[in-house]
Amino acid sequence: MSPQLRIGYGYDSHEFKPAIPLIIGGIKLAHDKGLGGHSDGDVLLHAITDALLGAIAAPDIGALFPPSDPQWKGADSAVFLREALKRVAAAGYALVNLDSTLILAAPKIGPHAATIRKHVAELCGIAEDCIGLKAKTPEGTGTDNAAIAHVSVLLQRAA
Ligand code: MG
Repeated sequence: MSPQLRIGYGYDSHEFKPAIPLIIGGIKLAHDKGLGGHSDGDVLLHAITDALLGAIAAPDIGALFPPSDPQWKGADSAVFLREALKRVAAAGYALVNLDSTLILAAPKIGPHAATIRKHVAELCGIAEDCIGLKAKTPEGTGTDNAAIAHVSVLLQRAA
């Protein structure tokens, strides 16, 4: 029988590039640089997507949406997240909560945290108080030109 609970973990990093929009958790943040990548570079939604896929032992985001495929160029990362949630439901599970940590030198996430949590909660179809979002600066790691996201999710077998 499939387990009652499943944990998932996702990680992603993207490099800052000048003169492109910065999108984190589906929210556009005012900044002079954005995150490069084949899609919209949304490091947080990518890590959430991979955590969900990992929890049900599905192929990862890179396998489902290969960067070599031109249809994902500039894609809204909510598309990837929705596909992962669809697969979670098809596997017979529902998302209980998620917790995340962002690591980036700038901009400050604190002033935007409530907006990001609200949007991610809507995308995931769970309550805002089930979305953890923490931000750290990359002290001593030498990754000031990147944004990194770590995400864990908990799934429960659907009734
Ligand atoms: Mg990514």
